[in-house]
Amino acid sequence: MMKCRRCRGPAVVEVRRHNAAFCRDCFLHHVREQVRRAIRAHDMFGPDDRVLVAVSGGKDSLALWDVLLELGYRASGLYLGLGIGDYSSRSAEVVRRFARERRGALEAVGGELVEIDLAQAYGFDIPTAGRKGSRSTCAVCGLSKRYVFNRAALERGYDVVATGHNLDDEAATLLGNTLRWQTDYIARQAPVLPARPGMVRKVKPLYRLSELETAAYSFLRGIDYVVEECPLVAGNTQLRYKEAMNRLEVTSPGTKAQFLLGYLDRAAPLFRAEDAAALTPCRACGQPTTGRFCAFCRARAQVLGLRLEDLAGREEDGERQVARELSEEVLPAELYGGAS
Ligand code: SF4
Ligand SMILES: [Zn+2]
Ligand SMILES: [Zn+2]
Repeated sequence: MMKCRRCRGPAVVEVRRHNAAFCRDCFLHHVREQVRRAIRAHDMFGPDDRVLVAVSGGKDSLALWDVLLELGYRASGLYLGLGIGDYSSRSAEVVRRFARERRGALEAVGGELVEIDLAQAYGFDIPTAGRKGSRSTCAVCGLSKRYVFNRAALERGYDVVATGHNLDDEAATLLGNTLRWQTDYIARQAPVLPARPGMVRKVKPLYRLSELETAAYSFLRGIDYVVEECPLVAGNTQLRYKEAMNRLEVTSPGTKAQFLLGYLDRAAPLFRAEDAAALTPCRACGQPTTGRFCAFCRARAQVLGLRLEDLAGREEDGERQVARELSEEVLPAELYGGAS
């Protein structure tokens, strides 16, 4: 029987990468410690900052929200309805129940669950965008999420957006970007992306934890999450990179961590110079972009069959004014590339 590394009691979870095993309580402690260390090492946010956690209903984002509330941070959740049939309805349900069960903890830190429906707010859902646009479904989904998270955080006065990307996600993204030598994307792959005019700070507090660890955490904490994959995932190239990394991990445990953490420690500084794109406000929505119109507005115009100039005219009044005042802005999708 394996023994817990910390208390020598019977272990229930093995973390091969750390060559360690833990009992339930010590494993939960280990996860919180990894998150605490990530937050502190990268100065992600402090106890007074208002944190908006992008929650999808999956294990990682709910585990993140749970850990942050346990650590006493002022963490709210943001759920974006993508309109992907039953998958989206079930995700929304799971997130609402999670928030209901933590009403006390949320009230204690002034947190809330923010819900935005893409179709209601912007006139299209993801399946339609995948059919009508020129981008892949996951590409338009990814850029829509980044756009809405950023804009919602700015408009609601949050200091930082936190996402549940774990070690496996980050290693797979880095592998994909490296295989194509997308040096501008590589340069932006960091646990923290600092705020810029029109862009709120983005952080990934789970980047030191593997998918197995976040799954075990969610299980041991009794978090009910959506297990099934998004039905549109077939087109997601990141999945193939994940599988490739998993095969390497089986024969050489620790490969993912060495690849990602080694990059962050030793190679990331070499790529920084790549990240110097000049940003101006999108002419339609005011969010920061490297071109005339941001990628979200371009994709949206295409899906809705509108001319970008019309979009610019339509939002000129109230909405655009507000967006402009909030920022001299930048476009998240173009800056924070990657599929999801
Ligand atoms: S698999 Fe693709 S379409 Fe589905 S949620 Fe992820 S990025 Fe969006
Ligand atoms: Zn223990
Ligand atoms: Zn725009």
